[in-house]
Parts: sequence; C-alpha cells; structure tokens
Amino acid sequence: MNKRFEGYVSVITGGNSGIGSATAHLFRNEGAKVALFGRNHTKMASVLNELGSDSLGFIGDVTSTTDLQCFFNEVKQKYGKIDSLFVNAGISKSASIEQMSEEFFDELFNVNVKGSMFTIKLALPLMKENSSIVVTTSNTLHNGYDQLSAYSATKGALRSMVRSLSAELLSRKIRINSICPGPIATRLLTKDFDQSTHDSIMSNIAENIPVKRMGEANEIAKAVLFLSSTDSSFMTGEEIIVDGGMTAIG
Ligand code: NAP
Repeated sequence: MNKRFEGYVSVITGGNSGIGSATAHLFRNEGAKVALFGRNHTKMASVLNELGSDSLGFIGDVTSTTDLQCFFNEVKQKYGKIDSLFVNAGISKSASIEQMSEEFFDELFNVNVKGSMFTIKLALPLMKENSSIVVTTSNTLHNGYDQLSAYSATKGALRSMVRSLSAELLSRKIRINSICPGPIATRLLTKDFDQSTHDSIMSNIAENIPVKRMGEANEIAKAVLFLSSTDSSFMTGEEIIVDGGMTAIG
C-alpha cells in the first residue's frame, strides 16, 4: 500500500469516536503517528488498542484551553511537531427557537466554535511550513433544517473561520480547509434514539438523501486524508462536501 503519511504526525480531536476514529485508522494505515483528543476513557482505550503502539491518547475537553495546552505539550514531548491537524470534535443538539436556552446555545458554541478556534491557536506553534489543517463542518450550514438553527450556526461560523484563517496562514505556508459531511451513522446522530426508533429514523433520513443511504465515517475520512496530503496542495480556504448529493441536488 502507498504510505502517503510516513513520517507524519497527525493530531485528531474527537479521535476516539465516529469520523475521528475512522480517520485515525486511515492515517495509521498510511504510515502516520496519531495523537487523539477526546473525553470518553473507554472509547479512547479501545481506539488506542486498535491503533497499536506509538499512538497518543489524551482525555480532555475542547472547551478547556488548559486541557488543550496540556495535550499539545504532550504531543510536543512525544513527537516534537504536527504535520496534520484534524479539528473534528463536536456536538449536535436540536431545539426550536422557543425551546432554546442560553445554556443550550452556549454549550454548542463553546464546544463547536470556541473549542475549534483554540485547538488551532494552541496547535499552531507545533506546525511548520507545508502542514495542513482540516475542520469538520456540516452540510446543515448550506440549507435550512428545522430545529438545527444553533448547530448550523456553529458550523457556518467554522466555515467562515476557515476562509479567514486560510488568508492569515498563507505567510506560514499552512493550508486550512473544511470537510463538510452529510448524515453519517455515528453516535452523534444515533445517540438520542432507542433501538426500536433507531431503524425507522435512520431509514427516514436515508430516504431524504439523493443516493438513498446514510454515509459511512470512512467516506469522510478518505476526503480528510486528501485534504491533509500534498494531493490537495493547491487548495486552501475551501471545503469538500461529502453528503450523498444533499447540497447539490437537494
Ligand atoms: P461522534 O462519534 O459523536 O464523535 C464526536 C467526537 O467529538 C467524539 O470523539 C467526542 O468525544 C468529541 N467531543 C465532543 N465534545 C467534546 C468536547 N467537549 N471535548 C472533547 N471532545 C469532544 O460523532 P461524529 O459524527 O464522528 O462527529 C464528528 C464531527 O462530525 C462533529 O464535529 C460533527 O458535528 C460532525 N458532523 C457529523 C455528522 C454526522 O451525521 N455524524 C454530520 C455532519 C457533521 P467523546 O465521545 O469522548 O465525548
């Protein structure tokens, strides 16, 4: 197999689950050393066990700059650098405008926006020329979805952040792009449903996707590796939408 990432150090927030975990496996298979950040101990231990030796797992919360700084200190000590940063940790919650509390709004913006911004800020001292950043947004930023106004607003904010940072990071020769997934059957989407409602909800979602199926975490991970590699060396400030045609076809 072609090992595009031999000698790379890849850092992934939300690397202990779903899209982040799938991406960690692909990076590892292609030769990278991976450092993961997430909250859940059990899931972290399980992913680290699958990845094998020479990977790093750190338990922390992206809303805490102290946790993030401790993580990047460990990355520096163990690997000395970051070649690719996947800013992926995020939460999704739905509420109508009437139901929306300040706590609900603040939690979404703290995790998804503040967490992403400070992940990038604190990682940058370890990133050299030709390194690359990928940020996970969502196809909900492109269309209107009932009860997702706050979540979609966080992802729209990230899309704008990527555009502006791409200009700011030009002088350092660091590229930044976003990956924009549609519905993927990870815990983020399935956590609110018991088994009996799960299947019918998933098939309802799939019915509204032009290709008539949910996406797989691996299908997002492959695009993340493209954006992280020199194969995308002429791209910055951009996004790749991987959503089974939802944005393009509707
Ligand atoms: P997931 O399996 O629930 O993964 C979310 C990851 O984010 C987990 O590793 C979680 O860690 C981490 N995370 C959440 N809050 C955190 C916090 N405060 N501090 C540190 N880590 C935190 O769901 P996923 O689908 O892979 O989600 C990954 C990204 O894709 C998210 O940004 C999400 O918005 C985006 N996305 C997903 C979909 C979809 O349909 N699944 C669609 C569009 C965009 P713990 O589990 O340890 O808490």
